[in-house]
Amino acid sequence: MVTVRARVLLRAVLLAVVVVASGFLAWWSWRTSAALAALGDRSVIESTALLVREKIDRVEATIIAGDNAVLHLVNPDDLDTLAQRWPDLAERISPTVRSVLVLDEALRPLRVVAHREDDDRFELVAWVTGGRLEGLDLAGKEVGAHSHWHGAVDGRSVLLSYFTRESAGRHYYVVLEADVDYIRSELLPKLFDDPLARGRFNITDENHRLVIGRSLRSAGGFVVSAPFPTTLYNWQLAVAPRRAPELAARSRRRGVIEGSYVGASLLVILAGVSFLLFAARQEEQLNTLKSDFIATVSHELKTPLSLIRMFGEMLAGDRAPTPEKRAQYLDIIVRESERLSALIENVLDFARLEQGRAAYEFTAADLGATVRRDVEAFRFRENRERPALVVEIADDIAPVRLDARAMQVLLFNLLDNAFKYAGDTDAVFVRARQEGARAVVEVEDRGPGIDPDDARRIFERFYRGRAVRSGGPRGTGIGLSLVKHIARAHGGDVTARAASPTGTIFRVAIPVGG
Ligand code: ADP
Repeated sequence: MVTVRARVLLRAVLLAVVVVASGFLAWWSWRTSAALAALGDRSVIESTALLVREKIDRVEATIIAGDNAVLHLVNPDDLDTLAQRWPDLAERISPTVRSVLVLDEALRPLRVVAHREDDDRFELVAWVTGGRLEGLDLAGKEVGAHSHWHGAVDGRSVLLSYFTRESAGRHYYVVLEADVDYIRSELLPKLFDDPLARGRFNITDENHRLVIGRSLRSAGGFVVSAPFPTTLYNWQLAVAPRRAPELAARSRRRGVIEGSYVGASLLVILAGVSFLLFAARQEEQLNTLKSDFIATVSHELKTPLSLIRMFGEMLAGDRAPTPEKRAQYLDIIVRESERLSALIENVLDFARLEQGRAAYEFTAADLGATVRRDVEAFRFRENRERPALVVEIADDIAPVRLDARAMQVLLFNLLDNAFKYAGDTDAVFVRARQEGARAVVEVEDRGPGIDPDDARRIFERFYRGRAVRSGGPRGTGIGLSLVKHIARAHGGDVTARAASPTGTIFRVAIPVGG
């Protein structure tokens, strides 16, 4: 047999294991779903990164192609051709180049050409020869090198491509100033005018100011950005996935929704387990009550039986000294058998009730007369002086529908309890009267009353008061549950309240009328 302590310990361990296991499960599913969502997000980000790379490559390729086209026209020995031909060709072959500066070996300007009339060519000369462009290293590059300088000059974004060349054993340098305004207002809008990128990109300059496009703040963490690696290297291109705002909102929502799902499932599991443990405990308590019941019923049966047997044997052996004694023994035998029948009746009624077989036969009856008759039968059975049974029955109670046998069981149980628990007090009162549409029967004793700790449970089957369980008057714990069932079967109910100054009043109220 597992002891109670071991069982309690087992339950605590089981609960702890379930809590830990469901916590782990919750954490695991949370993590897995977060990883899955991250995987989905990552594939969106990766395809956006591809788009970024492709756009950057195309911008740079266009700029470099323009540079190379101009470079082909540069011949240090015949710069006039460049000056004459390039402006006419520029719009077609190198729209991204604004002006060209050719310098000799000693970095002296040989020729400067701009392809648009209004361009200030000499600005370029001043920048290159004036040493204002930090990091621009014309003479330091090898022959054939193609380098870029990108930065802000006088608040304007300037992009230079510069080359080191050689002709007839002498170095010369070509510096091309990119037409940043053209790049911004013509090239970039054209490049980004496709369904994949439209409205979802921007380019920012070295001061994080928008060069083109719009703010992508609503896209949250899903924006992919990269600098232009070679040409416009101070600028940054950013692209947001098409569903970026939705993704950002989803990832915000996911945290909340999944958190609540996981939390709710955890709660359900815990509630389920607690309920099971609670049900197991209830079942256990009921089993204990049942075995107590069997023990007390057996004992209750044994006591009158041994009395009957003892006095029966005395009579059979003709051992009664006087005729009075003989009559007394017979009386004891009759009373004890009645007590025994009542107990057996009670147990059988209870068994029928438990099996759902309780059957009532209702007939219209005079409640006052029924109560009076039952009280007399009880008085005869008890045959004792104290406590006195005081009966107060109103004679104007309207007829009620009742099952006379069940009503007797109800009254006998209430009276039995009153006698049992009131001990040596003076009187037990039985009252019957009509209160509005209800007929009321009250049984009041002057005993010690019901312990407040027990009050809530006395009508439960097998429940016995704490004080009487150890010592106290004997009982089976089924009396009041029978009373309650019978009262309810009559369409009424039973309540118990404290009497003044001491004692208890049980009040059964059932509807009057047929
Ligand atoms: P029992 O066989 O124990 O009397 P009952 O179902 O009749 O079972 O009553 C349940 C419990 O209610 C009793 O064990 C007792 O503690 C309490 N009780 C019932 N009637 C009275 C009463 N008249 N006075 C005090 N306590 C009572």
